[in-house]
Amino acid sequence: MVTKKKPANTPVCSSCNEPAVVCQRQSHRNLCSTHFIREVEERFFLTVEKSRLIRSGDRIAVALSGGKDSTALLLLLSRHLQKWQDVSLIAITVDEGIKGYREETIRAAERVAEKIGVKHQIISFQDLFSDNLDALLKGRETQACTICGILRKKALIEGAKKVRATKIATGHNLDDEAQSVLMNVLRGDLPRLVRDSTVETSGCFIPRIKPLAELSEKEIASYLYVRGMFLTLPECPYTKFALRAEVRSMLSGLEHRNPGTMLRLMESQKKIEKYLGGTMFSRSLRRCRQCGDPCSGDLCQVCRLRQSLG
Ligand code: SF4
Ligand code: ZN
Repeated sequence: MVTKKKPANTPVCSSCNEPAVVCQRQSHRNLCSTHFIREVEERFFLTVEKSRLIRSGDRIAVALSGGKDSTALLLLLSRHLQKWQDVSLIAITVDEGIKGYREETIRAAERVAEKIGVKHQIISFQDLFSDNLDALLKGRETQACTICGILRKKALIEGAKKVRATKIATGHNLDDEAQSVLMNVLRGDLPRLVRDSTVETSGCFIPRIKPLAELSEKEIASYLYVRGMFLTLPECPYTKFALRAEVRSMLSGLEHRNPGTMLRLMESQKKIEKYLGGTMFSRSLRRCRQCGDPCSGDLCQVCRLRQSLG
């Protein structure tokens, strides 16, 4: 998306005639760095405002993995919150204990938080679950992302409780959300498909917000690139086992050939949610008999998982 060299026929910005650095295929617009930054920030602010993701007095725990999305999230939130006197940010990094991957991303997260000037805390699987992910996954590597996802969510909630956060912000982007929609369809998981994906409170009394949900992975990477904060980091070694990896490559191929595919997929999900969501799948929240966390059954997901891991 970001153009590299400037040949003689470099396209110019559709807004100001400066050399363009980004070509937006869907809207057929070229943008210079100033107008691209402005557009990304305005769209981010609009998402936050229209869904009222942030309220006066909020203390927001930002899930900072050190990767592109969470870095952009922290940067955009810190810029947006300059005008809010009574809203604060704190970055939380979950250390799952994934050898050869997490060490470097934790260092990246520490540097990002310091550069942006936000307090940073690390919460580890080892401390919370008495083992790291590598050890917990022995012989179950193909289920890595499912197990990791459940435990990461719990770790984030615990981290957020510790710092008395009122909300948890995660860096899910448009690509992630579109992938989740398709994965839920492929799994036949209708309740998950119709759940509100912007503000999620299930399993936790601290609401989760996804302010990047309307920006694509490419736009986020380009934003960091033009802001001089783009970093190349190692990929989690368990990614190859995930259904998400296949869905991701299929969707990005479709998006490339048919720009707007992911947005249309999200629009379809919203329509299905409108017709089928709400009371149809709402179940009253109970308390897990083991740990007391809110859940819909007798045991919460984490306690069920820990039982099965032995
Ligand atoms: Fe966890 Fe899977 Fe993400 Fe790796 S790719 S951090 S295992 S969810
Ligand atoms: Zn429990």
